[in-house]
Parts: sequence; structure tokens; C-alpha cells
Amino acid sequence: MSVVQEDRVWQTILGDIEITLSRANYLTWFKNTRVVKQTDTELVVGVPNIFIKNQLEVKYSQLIQDTIHKNGLPIETVVFKIQTTNRRDEPEPVPPPQANPLPSKASEKSGASPAPLIGGLNDKYTFENFIVGAGNELAYAACQAVAAEPGTKYNPLFLYGGVGIGKTHLIQAVGNALLAVNPKTLVIYITSEQFVKDFVDALRSKRASDFAGRYRAADVLIVDDVQFFAGKEKVQEEFFHTFNTLRQADKQMILSSDKPPKDIPTLEERLRSRFVWGMSIDMQNPDFETRCAIIQSKAAEQDISLDTDVVEFLATQFQSNIRELEGALNQMLAFCELRGLAPNLAIVSGLIGSSVGRPKHLSARQIVERCAKYYQISLEDLLSPKRDKDIVLPRQVAMYLLRSELHLSFPKIAHELGRKDHTTAIHSVEKITKESEFDPTLRTAVNDIKDKLYA
Ligand code: ADP
Ligand code: MG
Repeated sequence: MSVVQEDRVWQTILGDIEITLSRANYLTWFKNTRVVKQTDTELVVGVPNIFIKNQLEVKYSQLIQDTIHKNGLPIETVVFKIQTTNRRDEPEPVPPPQANPLPSKASEKSGASPAPLIGGLNDKYTFENFIVGAGNELAYAACQAVAAEPGTKYNPLFLYGGVGIGKTHLIQAVGNALLAVNPKTLVIYITSEQFVKDFVDALRSKRASDFAGRYRAADVLIVDDVQFFAGKEKVQEEFFHTFNTLRQADKQMILSSDKPPKDIPTLEERLRSRFVWGMSIDMQNPDFETRCAIIQSKAAEQDISLDTDVVEFLATQFQSNIRELEGALNQMLAFCELRGLAPNLAIVSGLIGSSVGRPKHLSARQIVERCAKYYQISLEDLLSPKRDKDIVLPRQVAMYLLRSELHLSFPKIAHELGRKDHTTAIHSVEKITKESEFDPTLRTAVNDIKDKLYA
């Protein structure tokens, strides 16, 4: 394929993603990516650093998959590769593609219309990188037992607990462990929402029997977040039959939910009772030490070791949701990486403060005034139509901060600065975002203003 065409595929994907995401997210994670190589089904995309790579793999792979699917593109895997433009970066070995292959039996069975988004285990969820501690040790032990002898004890295994505490990680780890022992095992991992969607599609296209056959052929069926079956009678009935078929054949089922079966509203009694036939385990929030260990291990995966005070600060700020904890950690690491700084307590508390409590006591007017003061110009000038160079920059910085700190809409930002047209606000925010990456003076100014705002 020619370079032009290669690029077009990724550009198509980017075009779609750009309108889905917020501007800042798009700029931060997608803007500096480009196609390095493409085969018929694989796209290798170059990214500037490990944080972006990590973020794209962890956070955006589903969006990318969905976008590929939506546009009917033939790509099955997208691999991210760090493209070093900067001496500081060490070239990274390219990881094996995160294939998440559809179990081949399943695609054969479903004939001409493979359902590319089912069956997708993410190979980053393993037992090895799961930190065991108070709160999750029982669930971990049960999952290991199931991985050792699927279909014999604890069938189904039902894990429930709050958001972001590792349910998906653990149940996928079982699937990955089984595949590692025997790659031919037909492990199907699916969220209940996807199951519902597939079911509806199958009914619509009159392929209900394909649908039934696909799931009933599984050696191991993992259904995530079954609370979404609530209220969906037809789906519950279908799942009931799938359940019985698999159970009779001693095939392992693993289910997760954000609440115990008895608390899932409008779940048919016969399903409710089956869900607790095997073993159900209440997963708790990981305790402080476990959270600290999780932070350390996630940082270590990126080759970074953090000081204890930084780790403890993060573990204190994020008490329940490990996904949020991870997000904050990655945000901090990305921030430091882009600026060539070593993470420390001041940075992390500044950053986390900005995403947690900050805007409460900060008004748009304070930001505008602070910018005028910093640049030693009058508020009148800043709000005036004047286009002098030494007034334009402070105005742009003010717009940027209204966006980054208060997340105001562009029309609101324009309004705060006495402007009617919001395109200026868009340009300003873009310009400062971009320039502060390269211009140390500007970056210092922005950071100084922020420090004063939150002092
Ligand atoms: P849930 O399905 O319970 O909402 P996830 O399994 O998606 O939560 O976990 C959210 C994130 O936190 C994932 O990236 C997962 O890898 C991570 N995580 C949660 N618990 C642990 C743990 N004990 N060790 C390592 N990572 C964890
Ligand atoms: Mg989950």
C-alpha cells in the first residue's frame, strides 16, 4: 500500500476521533501520531513517548476499535510504537501486537459476519501485574482456582464490587491465564452491554441461532457487568439458556457486577438463583498499602520509581477507584515527561489539586485579573479590542487558563473577555497549548499565574 493510502486510513480514524473527544484530549493524545507501517490488517502508529503510547493503549483502544469498525476499515490490530525524535528517549522494543484475537472457532461458527468486537481479552490484564492485598485477595484466590481448574469448582464465579476496583482486570486475567496454557481454549470475554447489542443485532438480521451457537460453544464465557441485564427480559431469557448449556457441559462461566445478584433490579429469579450457584465474592476497595503498591507497580511498568511521599499522597487522594488513581498517576507522569521533570510532591499535589478541588473557589474574573496583573497591563486594556502585541498575549493566556482551569466553553471564554466571536478563543487556546510546550518563558508564565491563582 502506498504511503498516501496508509495515511488515509489513520487520517480517517483521526478525523472521527477528533469530533468525539474534547479538544484537549485530542491534542494531547492523538495529534502527534502518524502511520509508520500498514499491512492488510495491521496498522503501526508512531507516537512521541511512552505516556502517550500507554494512554492510547489503555484508554483509547476501544474508541479506536469502534472507529475502525464504524468506518468499515479492514484493520484488525493497531500497534503503537514510540518514534524517537528526542535524544532523551530510549528506543522502545515494539511490544507484540495486542491482538485480542477473536477465538478462531467463534469466528468460524459465525460464518460470514464475524463480530469483531467480541471475544476481546486485553492481554495487559494478567495475574502477574495484579497487586494482591486486603480487599481483593479472596477474589484473586478464587480466580486463580478457576484458572487452575476451569469448570470444576466455583461455577459460575461471580465477582461484585464498586467501580474501578479490579473486577475486569481479574476476570480477564483468568481468560489470559487459560489461553497461555492452551491457546486453543475458546475463551469469550464480553460485556453484558455488548452481549445485549449482539443479541439485538442478531434478532434484527435473523441470525439468532448463530448468536446462540457462538456463545454456547465457549469453553469459558466471561461476562462483565451483568447488572446491565436488568430489565431486559429477552436477553435474560437468552442468557439463561446459554448459562444452562454451558453449565451442563461443565464449561466455566465468570461474571462480574457492580452489585450482588440479589440487588440487581428486575433480574429474573431463575437467573438470580443461578448466579449464586457457584461462588460469589464481594470485592472491597483495596486498602492503603495495596493502593501504594499498585501505584509503585504502575510507575515501575513505565520505568519510573516514585518517592514514598508522592505515592502516599496519591493513595490518600484516591481511596476507591483504581482507574481514577491510575489516570491521575499517568497524568502526572505525562506532565513530568513533557517537561523533563522528576515527579515530586509539589508537582503531584498541584496537578491533583487542579483536577479535584480547585475550580470551586476560582472565578473567571480572578483568572482574567491575575493575567492582567502578571503582565502588568490594565484590566481595561485586556478586555479592550486593542491588538497591541503586549496585550494580545496576556489575553490569549487568560483564554487558555479559562479553558484549562475552569473548562469553560469557547463562547463563554469569548464572553468573559468581551468578545463576540468565539473562534478567537479557540485559536488562542490552541496557540498557547502548543507554544507552551516549546517556549519555556511562556510555560513559566502560565505556571506562575496558576501558582498565584491557587496560592
Ligand atoms: P472494575 O472492572 O472493577 O471497574 P478494572 O478491573 O477495570 O475495574 O480496574 C481499573 C483499573 O485499575 C485497571 O487498569 C486495573 O488494571 C487497575 N487495577 C485495579 N486493581 C488493581 C490491582 N489490584 N493491581 C493492579 N491494577 C489494578
Ligand atoms: Mg469493569
